[in-house]
Amino acid sequence: MLALIPVRDATLPAGALEAAAECGDRSLLIGERVGEALGHLVGEVHCCEAGRFRPGAWAEVLAHALADEPVVVLPASPDGRDLGPRLAAALDRPFFAGAVQVSTTTVVVPRDGGRSMHTMAAPASFVATLQVGVRGVEPSDAVPTVTPAAFSVTDADVEPGGAGAGCPDARVVAVLAPDAATVDLAEAGRIVGGGAGLHDAAQFDQLAALGARLGASVGATRVITDRGWIGHERQIGTTGVVVDPDLYLAFGISGAVQHTSGLGHPDHVVSVNTDAHCPMMQLADLAVVADANEVLTELLALLETGDG
Ligand SMILES: Cc1cc2nc3c(=O)[nH]c(=O)nc-3n(C[C@H](O)[C@H](O)[C@H](O)COP(=O)(O)OP(=O)(O)OC[C@H]3O[C@@H](n4cnc5c(N)ncnc54)[C@H](O)[C@@H]3O)c2cc1C
Repeated sequence: MLALIPVRDATLPAGALEAAAECGDRSLLIGERVGEALGHLVGEVHCCEAGRFRPGAWAEVLAHALADEPVVVLPASPDGRDLGPRLAAALDRPFFAGAVQVSTTTVVVPRDGGRSMHTMAAPASFVATLQVGVRGVEPSDAVPTVTPAAFSVTDADVEPGGAGAGCPDARVVAVLAPDAATVDLAEAGRIVGGGAGLHDAAQFDQLAALGARLGASVGATRVITDRGWIGHERQIGTTGVVVDPDLYLAFGISGAVQHTSGLGHPDHVVSVNTDAHCPMMQLADLAVVADANEVLTELLALLETGDG
């Protein structure tokens, strides 16, 4: 099994480590400045410098290069979801979208909106995307074995007459910054989370405003989603979304295990709570013992005046 990981601007997509781990730590990175994108990848890593993301053209070139790889797994990140089906079509293989488990013998995919899991016998060769956050990976400092891929993608390949010319890509007119309030939680690098320590629904408007200022997505505990102050798709935890941000700012969250078990491994956790001893404060790199409502208001005011 091989994890195929599209890289933009030397940055691994969400779910890259999980896809690699699912494939026994055998990965192929393709994209821009891939050599700088290794992150916590371990095992066998092949690198293919291929410039900007061109899923149609890449799929055509990869179909030749990966013809002898029976199982190719991509993270179900936005770019993985673009490249995966194109590659499956170019390889003329079955495609499993959003699997939660992949092996050479079975593929497990959710059905009925995630209410049931279906285990299917794996065909001899196929392409799949693996949902982000379904298995988690302990970050490792082990050094991977990095080798250049045995093939390359050049501009000539994607020009008329080139190897990837058969599948034209969309022309990029503009790249817009994501709206923090709507960015998929599972893919957010920064998250501001709110819990029952926030006094009313209006505080969640403030939380969204703070998220927008910090480029962070908004999450909440189940207490809050049950109150209807924010949608259930914003709930973090075992019965919500599993996330893995670099930075998590928790406002008035106690840190119940059903919440924290969905948090992944944030590099930094900041917690604001009146209870210095609650689990969320114990998890935090920076624990602020204060009224979360007041801190939120004050933070926004500081950011408005530019003093923050
Ligand atoms: C089967 C099951 C599944 C569950 N799944 C999930 C899940 O997916 N996600 C999830 O989040 N929960 C889940 N829960 C609920 C979970 O057990 C907790 O009840 C919930 O996470 C607690 O949310 P909370 O931290 O907002 O509230 P609380 O636990 O009530 O904590 C509120 C916190 O706010 C602090 N506080 C109070 N006033 C202030 C103030 N003025 N300023 C600052 N801090 C203040 C308090 O000290 C406290 O730490 C699940 C429970 C069950 C039984």
